[in-house]
Amino acid sequence: MQFVDLAAQQKRIRKKIESNISAILDHGKYIMGPEIKQLEERLTGYVGVKNAIGCASGTDALLMALMAYQVGPGDAIFTSPFTFIATAEVISLLGATPVFVDIDPQTFNIDPAKLDLAVRAVKNNDSSIHPLPIIPDHLPVTPKGVIPVDLFGLPADYSRIEDIAKTQDIFVIEDAAQSFGGELKGKKACAFGNIACTSFFPAKPLGCYGDGGMCFTDDDSLTEIMQSVRVHGKGHHKYDNIRIGVNGRLDTLQAGILLAKFDIFPEEITLRQQVAARYTELLGFHSGLTRPAIAHDYQSAWAQYSILAQDSAQRTALQNKLKAAQIPTAIYYPTPLHLQSAFSYLNYKNGDFPISEDCAGRIFSLPMHPYLSEEDQLKIVRSIETMT
Ligand SMILES: *Cc1c(COP(=O)(O)O)cnc(C)c1O
Repeated sequence: MQFVDLAAQQKRIRKKIESNISAILDHGKYIMGPEIKQLEERLTGYVGVKNAIGCASGTDALLMALMAYQVGPGDAIFTSPFTFIATAEVISLLGATPVFVDIDPQTFNIDPAKLDLAVRAVKNNDSSIHPLPIIPDHLPVTPKGVIPVDLFGLPADYSRIEDIAKTQDIFVIEDAAQSFGGELKGKKACAFGNIACTSFFPAKPLGCYGDGGMCFTDDDSLTEIMQSVRVHGKGHHKYDNIRIGVNGRLDTLQAGILLAKFDIFPEEITLRQQVAARYTELLGFHSGLTRPAIAHDYQSAWAQYSILAQDSAQRTALQNKLKAAQIPTAIYYPTPLHLQSAFSYLNYKNGDFPISEDCAGRIFSLPMHPYLSEEDQLKIVRSIETMT
C-alpha cells in the first residue's frame, strides 16, 4: 500500500502527460514557455482570483510574496509553529523575525484570538500578554504581516484573521501549499489574504513531477513586483534589473505536466472527500482516537488525513502495528518549529505553545490519496481496531 499513490493517477492521464511533454520538446521553450501562462490562466479561473505567478516551489512562492512587501529586518511576521519549516524559514531568510502563535486544537490552524494577543504583545513589547522571541541586542520589531497555514488542506479561519489584519494593519499571506482545492464559505483556497501561495511538490493535492509553486493575488501592483522578483528583479527587459530578486521561475515542462493533471483535479478533490468521509465513518467506533473535524462552512483538500492518539506511546504502538501490516503512516509534524534547532536563536522554550506541543506528540497521518480503495481503508481500520 502506498501513502500517496501517484502511479494510480498517472495511469489515467499518462497519454496526455506524454503529449504535453512532446509538444514542449517540439517548441523548445523550456524557460517561461507558453504553458506557464496557460496554467496561470486555468488556475486563476478555478480559484477565482485575478492574477497568478507560477514559480519554482512553494517555498519560493512564500519568499516572493514576502519580498513583494519588502519584508526585512525589524519586521515581525506571525505564523503557526505547527507547520512545515518552509513557512517560517523564508521569514528568517529575509532577516525578519518569526513570531509564533499557537493553533486551534480542532483545526490545527492558527488561533485568531491568540494572533490578536500576539500582535498586541509585539506592539507593546510585552511578553506577559503572549510569548515573544527574545533575541539579545535586538531592537524591538514592528508587526508587518501574518502567514496563516491551511494545514492538511483545511483553510484557516480567514473571516476572523482578515478582520484582525485590517484592524492591526498587517498583511495576510495564505500558505495554501497543502490546501489547493479546499474551500471556505464557497470561496476557494488560494483566494484568501493579500497573496496566497501554493506548492506543486509531487505529494501535494495538485503536484507536478518535480518542484513548482504559484502565487495568487487580485492586486496588480503586487503581481508586477512578484513577476519581476521571479526573474532576478528584472525591469522592462532581462538585463535591466530594478530590484534584488531570485531565479524563481516554474519550469515549462512542469507546467505542461500540471495542465494534464489539472484536467482531472476537480474530480480528484471529490474522490478525496469520499475517502476522508469513509475514514471518519469507519474510525467512528474508536473512542480513543480523535478524528479531523471539519466545520460546516469548510472543505478540506485532504492533503493528509491526520488523527490524534491518546498519547505518544499509543501512537508508537499504532504505527508499529500498521507498519507490520505493510501500511505506511507518517508524523506531520514531530517537532513544532519553536523547538527546532534552526529557530533556537529566537529563544522560545518548551511550554510556550502547549497545543502545538501536545499535537506534535500524538498526531499521525494515514495513507491518503484519491485512489485509496475501500478495501485498503477497511484493512487499515481493522489493523487499528485490534489495538484500541
Ligand atoms: C510543502 C509546503 C511548503 C513548501 O513547498 P515546496 O514546494 O516544498 O517548497 C510550504 N508550506 C507548507 C505548509 C507546505 O506543506
